[in-house]
Amino acid sequence: MSDAKDSIVQAVDRLGDELEALSRRIHDHPELGYQEKQAAGWLTEFLGAKGFKVETGVGGVETAFRATIDTGEGPTIAIMCEYDALPGIGHACGHNVIAASGAGAGAALAVARGVLPKGRVQVIGTPAEEGGGGKCRLIKAGVFKDVDAAIMIHGFDRTILHQDLLGIVRGTFEFTGKASHASADPWEGVNALDAVIATFNAVSMMRQQVRPDCRIHGIITNGGAAANIIPEYASAVFYVRAPRIDMMWDLYKRVEACAQGAAKATGCTLEATQNSDNVYEPLKRNQTLLDLFAVNMKTAGLEEGPPVLDRLGSSDVGNVSQVIPCIQPMVGIAPLGTAIHTREFEAAAVKPLARAGLLAAAKTMALTTFDLLADPARVRAAKEEFARSR
Ligand SMILES: [Zn+2]
Ligand SMILES: [Zn+2]
Repeated sequence: MSDAKDSIVQAVDRLGDELEALSRRIHDHPELGYQEKQAAGWLTEFLGAKGFKVETGVGGVETAFRATIDTGEGPTIAIMCEYDALPGIGHACGHNVIAASGAGAGAALAVARGVLPKGRVQVIGTPAEEGGGGKCRLIKAGVFKDVDAAIMIHGFDRTILHQDLLGIVRGTFEFTGKASHASADPWEGVNALDAVIATFNAVSMMRQQVRPDCRIHGIITNGGAAANIIPEYASAVFYVRAPRIDMMWDLYKRVEACAQGAAKATGCTLEATQNSDNVYEPLKRNQTLLDLFAVNMKTAGLEEGPPVLDRLGSSDVGNVSQVIPCIQPMVGIAPLGTAIHTREFEAAAVKPLARAGLLAAAKTMALTTFDLLADPARVRAAKEEFARSR
């Protein structure tokens, strides 16, 4: 390892206690998406103290930020942080570790500024991953426009270089019928709840003709007011997921057609709403960046765990990967078998294993960023791969 890279690794080690404290502070004060004021404040305060130029509220999103070190003409590499929590179960997705490791990687590069090749390092704070689509808004606002490549890690029960993410479209189906007395004049009513149930039944029948790597899941959000009134209004929310953007939209149209058919069958009117702010796209793989990350991962002492083949989620990091070369390796921060979005994972996210994962991830991201700045040809290769893959 070069002296410069060695000094980056040492910088992360020296920052270890400070990063663990930052991670714990965010963990112990969970904030929901777009409300992460304290977390964004602590992170920008930390980065500012390390010499970053800090901009808050970037992209018109109050709890987003961008912290930049500029050492001259060269590539712009972004390290992303997430810091939103889940309702009721706090940091059960371990975003406190994502935040502290991203900030730690940036801080280590800032400390080693003297040996940093020319270019820009940006630590970008991206709010509301858990359904709010913070990165979608930042992309639309142009925050990633001048970024050449982006890196983020996510905590997991094992380390995996690349884990596929499904694209997801979220739709709301609202049916309007006509209320009537359910015993005295049921024939006068138009039953909106029947339309919701018919939608679920049609979707369930359709599943046989759906690829196994897709997911369709929904809930009834309104099923009527009282059992003695024919429901005049009922609604459902469906999430539709697929491994490719075209498949995702095709499947969403088929689910929407189920709702349209149900409206027709019951005589209700349908209002279908699809929120464009939180369409999460699949993760586009970039092997050039992954190969670089893999080498640095070994230096940082991270070893890949057993692959996870059929348990797939979604994230707005997928949207970033569809506009620029971007990777999101999974880093072990909890004992094998601990699932994310559980109280067990929430507890694990501040244990010694999480600290070890946090520091190893910070080192790997910082070293990978260093390599990209040092050799712009690698950035070009990542962009060429991005352009030819779908
Ligand atoms: Zn999550
Ligand atoms: Zn997460």
